[in-house]
Order: sequence, then C-alpha cells, then structure tokens
Amino acid sequence: MPAFPDSLRTELHALLGADNIVDSGDSLTALSRDYYWYSPALKPLLDDKRADLVAKPGTVDELRAVLAACFKAGVAVTPRGGGTGNYGQCMPVHGGVVIDCSRLDRIHSVEGGVVRTEPGARLITIETQARAAGWELRCYPSTWVKATLGGFFGGGAGGIGGVRWGGIGTGDTVKSITILTCEAEPRTLRYEAPPPITALRTFGTTGIMIEIEMRLAPKLDYDQLAFSSPDWSKLLEWTDAAMRNGTWRKRVASQFQWPIPSFFKPIKKHIRENEHVSFLMPERSQTAEMIASAEAAGLTVTYNRPLSDPPKPPFLSDFTYNHTTLWAMKTDPTITYVQVGFTKDFRAQLTDLMTRYPGEFLVHLEWGTSDPARTVGPDASPDVIGVGGIPLIRYTTPERFDEILAYARSIGVSVGNTHSYHLTATTPEGTAARIALKHEVDPRGLMNPGKMHTFPLNPFAAAS
Ligand SMILES: Cc1cc2nc3c(=O)[nH]c(=O)nc-3n(C[C@H](O)[C@H](O)[C@H](O)COP(=O)(O)OP(=O)(O)OC[C@H]3O[C@@H](n4cnc5c(N)ncnc54)[C@H](O)[C@@H]3O)c2cc1C
Repeated sequence: MPAFPDSLRTELHALLGADNIVDSGDSLTALSRDYYWYSPALKPLLDDKRADLVAKPGTVDELRAVLAACFKAGVAVTPRGGGTGNYGQCMPVHGGVVIDCSRLDRIHSVEGGVVRTEPGARLITIETQARAAGWELRCYPSTWVKATLGGFFGGGAGGIGGVRWGGIGTGDTVKSITILTCEAEPRTLRYEAPPPITALRTFGTTGIMIEIEMRLAPKLDYDQLAFSSPDWSKLLEWTDAAMRNGTWRKRVASQFQWPIPSFFKPIKKHIRENEHVSFLMPERSQTAEMIASAEAAGLTVTYNRPLSDPPKPPFLSDFTYNHTTLWAMKTDPTITYVQVGFTKDFRAQLTDLMTRYPGEFLVHLEWGTSDPARTVGPDASPDVIGVGGIPLIRYTTPERFDEILAYARSIGVSVGNTHSYHLTATTPEGTAARIALKHEVDPRGLMNPGKMHTFPLNPFAAAS
C-alpha cells in the first residue's frame, strides 16, 4: 500500500484540529472496524484492514474541505456512521481516510411527518424527537441506539416496523438524499424520490450523504410481549396469522426456534426450557385482544412490558434481527447467520430445513411487507406480508455452509450472501444506474474502493 502523504496529514490536522483526527493506536483500529467478525468468511479477509487516519468533520463545510483534500492527494475515502454494519461496509479495505460522520448529527426539523437531518443523527435520537412532535420512525434496525441514519441508508435494510412499513427501500419512506461528490471541488447533489434513489444502500461508494429527508408515521404506543410454546407449528400459525391480521397494529414480530431463546441471557427468567418463542410489539389498545387470542390458541405470555416514551430500555428488539445472532455468538462462537426469504410454501420449507439439519440450522423468522398501503386498514391484504429471517447456522466448514445454502435455494428459499463485502452480494446493483452515478460523483474511484467491484476503476487494487 502506498505511504500516506504527510502533506495530507498536516492539512487535515490544520482543518479539523487534533481533537478531531485519530491516526494511531487502538482508537484508529476501532474506528476502522464494524461487526465484520460475525462472518467466519470475512474475519480473516478484513482483520488487518485499518485506516491511515480518521477525520471527524463537525460541519458540512469541513467535510467538503476534507473531501477536496483527499481528492487532491488521491487517497481512499470511506464514510462511517455508527460502525454497526455486519459485513465490513464501512471498513477501509485499501486504507486511506475514514470520514466519521458522527459529529454531523443535527436534526434540522420534524415537520409534517418528515424528518430532515444530517447523516450522523442516531436513530433512537430521531425517534425521541419525532415522538415529541407526534411521529415515529417507520422502520429502524435493532442497533438504533448506536446506528446513524446515514449508515442505515448507506448499508442497512430494514428492521423493526418492517411488518407495517417494509424496509428502507419500500414505499415512499425515503423522501430525499443530498450528497457531496468526491471531486476537486465537491458538489452538492440532491436526489428526491420517486424515482427510486440510486445513491441509497451503496456502502458509501457514491458520495457522502449530508442531508436526508425521511417520512415518519403517526406515533403509537406499544407494548412488548413474548409468547411461548413447546409446539413450533402452533406458535408459527398464531404468529403468522397475527402478522397478516389487517386490524392489528404492530411494530415487530420475530419467532425463534429452541434453543435460540436460551441465548437471551438478560431475559432468561422469561424463557421456558425447550420452548419456542415469538416476540411482538402490539399497539397498546390492542394488547389485551392479542393476548386473549394467543392464550385461546394455547400459547403462554412470558413477558409483558410497555415500550417507554421517550424510548428507554428494556427493548425486546435487542433480541431481534441481527441482535439474535449476537446473543447466539456470545454463547457459541461457531454460530453464524444468513439472510433468507421464504415463499408462500414457508411451512414446508421450514419443516424441510429443520428436519434435514437438526441442531445445525436454527430458525429465526421475521415478518415484513412489500406493500405498506395494504398492511392495515380497509384495503389490508394478508398476501402483502412475507416471511423471511436470519437463521443461525453452526459453522463447521465453508463446504458444509455452502451445501446448506445450496439446499435452501433448491427448495425455493432466497438466500442473501451476508459473507461478502461486495455490494452486489447483498443488494441488486441496478448496475448501469449505479455505475453511471459512481462515474458522476466519484470519477477517480476513491470512495470506499473495493466495495463496488463492478465499477471498472479501483486505483488501489494493484497496490494492496
Ligand atoms: C447486532 C446487530 C444488529 C443489526 N440489526 C440490523 C437490523 O435490524 N436491520 C438492518 O438493516 N441492519 C442491522 N444491522 C446492521 C447495521 O446495524 C445497520 O445497517 C445500521 O443501520 C448501520 O448504521 P451505522 O450508522 O452503524 O452504519 P455504518 O456501519 O457506520 O455504515 C454502513 C454503511 O453506510 C456508509 N455510510 C455511513 N455514513 C454515510 C454517509 N453519511 N454517506 C454515505 N454513506 C455512509 C458506510 O460507508 C457503510 O458502507 C445490525 C448489525 C448488528 C451488529
């Protein structure tokens, strides 16, 4: 790798001051990493990746100056939010400068159901301010305490709220994204949806987001419930029906096959030995009705706490989405994960996988919608709700892992490859549009090089 230019180091120090530059020690390593170690495939590939310098601009003008300086020096630039991604999205594969956006965290306004904010605002902070104004996030990742909106739009997918509103790419949740280009004189470009915004979910390869407008939902009050049963099918039938029920408002539903609930140590007194569990966040006025329905179906309620407003722990969502994987790995480091989507035949697909790989493929389900206009209310349709999930896999060898995934695909399950840091592995690149955007906003290929590997230019590839 070429030596980091001293002139750039001096220039960035002068621009931001020593307090906002990290260029050595454990902090440099920590700010160069995310949760890539979740993946046994990515861990050896990324363990030694480290930025030469982390810059923490506090204003858009400072960010513009940092970008211009990096462009002039021909150094790689990688944006970073909260660093909670789990496949190395914000890791500088070719070194250079990591731009930490956490000081760019001003929430400009929450008006008319739209939040307008800088990218470094944390999702829980946005939720808190939105709730004070009568609104709430439509969807958020389980990492909302640390994750930023820029990072969510740069590398995330969806999460809590997905069963009502879908993920970040569904419907009209994203209103606009404004970016700075990586050029001699960085330009400000604003993209408004529709059409879908190409700069969404590009792992920081297509400019740095400096302002985001996102639509919110009217705020509701929620409870947090856990339903338990030794009978997998009984629990699945009730949870699935609850998710497709167009009169029940809810924010999340997740179902876990035993022994996954045994990994949830902080709430172990609410977990029953050898029982499967579903977590649900119902709108409070409907909680009693949902509990009565579940009990009539033979399920037991083992946890019932309000979600506080403003939000404060405990959060049952701390055990959902990829947090499930985190708790599992704390107990058994051989466990890893994949992201899957089932078809209408999900019952048969699940039975097949559970029977073929007992104890090796552990089922974790999440429900989501493809059409937020038809999840609740008079036009509601059960067909717009889909079953997906983040099953856990006890990892032995790459060959065995690939075999399990190939089998899942052979029975119609879609599998997202969460064990690659390439953009194409986890998101359809819409190749022509993305490559055209990349040419326009990052003509020298300096932004997070190595991630958009279909882009023909990577000035650092030969040097590393
Ligand atoms: C335990 C755990 C649970 C998780 N649960 C979920 C979940 O429920 N749903 C989900 O979608 N994800 C989940 N994730 C992944 C991750 O937490 C989310 O995607 C989160 O939104 C990332 O935000 P961040 O601020 O940490 O982004 P980072 O990890 O810092 O960055 C993510 C990507 O965005 C880019 N980026 C950051 N800021 C900008 C900017 N200003 N402009 C342009 N690009 C930028 C980075 O370069 C990087 O490519 C989980 C991860 C873990 C470890």
